[in-house]
Amino acid sequence: MTRQRTLKQPLSATGIGLHSGSKVQVCMRPAPANTGIVYTRCDLNPKVVMQCTAQNVRDTQLCTALVNEDGVRISTVEHLTAALSAFGIDNLYIDVNAPEIPVMDGSAQPWIYLFESVGVVDLPEPKRYYKVLRKVRVENGEKWAELTPSQGFDLDLTIDFNHPAMDRDLQHLHFDFTGKGFADQISRARTFCFMCDVEYMHAHHLALGGSLENAVVLDDFRVVNPDGLRCPDEFVRHKMLDAIGDLYMNGHSILGSFKAFKTGHDLNNRLLKALLSSSDNYEEVALTSSVKSKASDIEFIGSGSKVLSF
Ligand SMILES: [Zn+2]
Repeated sequence: MTRQRTLKQPLSATGIGLHSGSKVQVCMRPAPANTGIVYTRCDLNPKVVMQCTAQNVRDTQLCTALVNEDGVRISTVEHLTAALSAFGIDNLYIDVNAPEIPVMDGSAQPWIYLFESVGVVDLPEPKRYYKVLRKVRVENGEKWAELTPSQGFDLDLTIDFNHPAMDRDLQHLHFDFTGKGFADQISRARTFCFMCDVEYMHAHHLALGGSLENAVVLDDFRVVNPDGLRCPDEFVRHKMLDAIGDLYMNGHSILGSFKAFKTGHDLNNRLLKALLSSSDNYEEVALTSSVKSKASDIEFIGSGSKVLSF
């Protein structure tokens, strides 16, 4: 029986907010079984608590943002959520003192490092999965994403960029999800954007914290970052990272096959909402030995509270 998990120890981290450019602090605390992932805006008075769910994702313009009915928001949760998924962490309190999670280096690797440092602990309750029962598909023009039944969780993603720095042969990736595989192959891939987008965003006072320290930036011909890419297919790997985070927004791993063409935060979120819109599409299950899944096949052992800055 695979069990629910939380962090073994509290941790805190500071980093720059992508949108504000200001310093942001995040504190995480272990939570009991069946709590889910619970965010608190601790800079507000009174504090505002928000459950991390697909339904609470109300903005997917530049990132995945939780927004409540009063317009209180917590942006840029997707890379942290992807790291939680890799560790099988389904219960956690996350306190943040700003409207956004720090962007760190634009990848999930800093979160992986922090979780690895403090360790995770199994809780008494069995882990719950969303088992896909029938094909669910969403589309937007030529873009599409779908989930079909499967015993494990695998992802097949294609991007379609016509750019001199983006090799046509490196725009497709198939990935059989495991926690260790995620840490090794996906977590270090950074977000990317184009110089023209940066100029537009800065003119509109968006992404003020964006820099070559937390994104791959491309001009019309090449990657601008002096050190180049972390791997030749970093772009499609980052899109995979985003999809993994977006599909874990309810804190339940998926038992199914994900396939997508030119997907992004909006389609990923619409796909999860579509899956959950009918009990004919999915059932919530606890894993027994008869159901094979590597979805949380990861063990990281650590100890001590960790405080780091990026
Ligand atoms: Zn991303």
